[in-house]
Amino acid sequence: MNQRLKNILKDQFDFKANKNQLQSLERLIFEIMRRDQVSQKSILSSLKETANIEKYSGSNKFSAIKNTLIERRYPLTWAQEKIDSKRLFLSQLRNPLDDNWQVRKVFKPVEIFVERSVKDSYLVENFRKRFPETPIKQISRYSQYLKSNKFTLAELKKPIVFIIKEKWDFLKPCPCTKHHLRCGYWIFNLGFGCPYDCSYCFLQQYTNFPGILLPANIDEFFNKFDNFSKKLKERIRIGTGEFCDSLALDHITEYSKKLIPYFKTKNVIFELKTKSANIKNILDIAPSKNIVISWSLNPKALITSEEIGAASLDERLAGARILQTAGYGIGFHFDPIIHSNDWQHSYKHLIDRLYSDLNPGFAWISLGTLRCNRQLKTRAELRFPKSNIFYSELLIGEDKKLRYNKLLRKEIYAKVLEWIRRYDKVTPIYLCMEDKELWNQVLKIDSAEKIEEYLIK
Ligand code: SF4
Repeated sequence: MNQRLKNILKDQFDFKANKNQLQSLERLIFEIMRRDQVSQKSILSSLKETANIEKYSGSNKFSAIKNTLIERRYPLTWAQEKIDSKRLFLSQLRNPLDDNWQVRKVFKPVEIFVERSVKDSYLVENFRKRFPETPIKQISRYSQYLKSNKFTLAELKKPIVFIIKEKWDFLKPCPCTKHHLRCGYWIFNLGFGCPYDCSYCFLQQYTNFPGILLPANIDEFFNKFDNFSKKLKERIRIGTGEFCDSLALDHITEYSKKLIPYFKTKNVIFELKTKSANIKNILDIAPSKNIVISWSLNPKALITSEEIGAASLDERLAGARILQTAGYGIGFHFDPIIHSNDWQHSYKHLIDRLYSDLNPGFAWISLGTLRCNRQLKTRAELRFPKSNIFYSELLIGEDKKLRYNKLLRKEIYAKVLEWIRRYDKVTPIYLCMEDKELWNQVLKIDSAEKIEEYLIK
């Protein structure tokens, strides 16, 4: 495409693009083609008709072509504000991987590595029983193993399990993101890696190796937490799904059987966050309202195209209904909300469906729009050549992440909030990774303390 485009620009626009100019124009054209499902030819002919390019020369001609393409690529943002080119991420187009490992609906590890110090743990036994044909190999430390074994990006989702002894802290405050209002959440480290493969998952850029790390020693945390909790002045919220899905492998790890009985009696709100329907173990435990099981939700079509391997919307809502009836606290995360031409229809429909299946109030609902750093987009493009979500109006934001502009985010949050409030006046709703201004505009809350008070109350 590169040389061809170069020739077309020369023939049709009398413009000789240098390498960087060509890369930018090629990227803009590609993203318009993908998002609008139109051909390069039609983009270039409308460019000729609308931009009056002939009257420019040299670098002015490049700016005229580029600005016309930016206007078409980001129509909503363009209509609201000037787009500084520093906010564009116009990286070189690369061919997608042709051997990317595909996840399966039913998880089956191809290899299991066990750190010697936990070789006799219940977790190893659970894996041995469930996957008698999968080889189990002993290693000293997973980190050493990974140093001496290199993997390609295509192998990122190869189902390799590492059963490990967790050495670093199990609990830490949620880092949120630069310049944004934290909600006072704490994160319990329940391993690293996930059997699902969401196109927007930040783990893709966070790791270079395949495999799921599962701690076999979470009981050791309980002693530490007993001491930590003595110093707590107020109730805190603790969640588990930062680097993993809290329940995706619960049928094997049985973490919920340890965590729920422990946290039930503590002065915390403890959340297990999932895209699975893996609730069998939880149903065997007597419920408590301070234990919240929460589901990330997206419209059906997005679940199918972007959340590979995860449970369907029907399965997630059925799981939530069963646990709500059983007496558990239930939460939902509309995160990431993905903008598209029909986003309003699909998210409104999703909210109608949620409230036709379940009764409010829930423990909480969070809202967050699609965001990612630049490396993630590059990796996701290589791994998910059919995904179009990165061709929505994502520009580099204040925190250097690709995000929708503030007015668009505000519009999305305001609409989703309105649709939810038609059914549900009681559930606390919060924003994920947003700044004070948006919190204030959307929810009339302007400090971390007020957020915490709002959510814990
Ligand atoms: S479920 Fe969560 S952790 Fe798993 S792939 Fe999707 S976004 Fe990543």
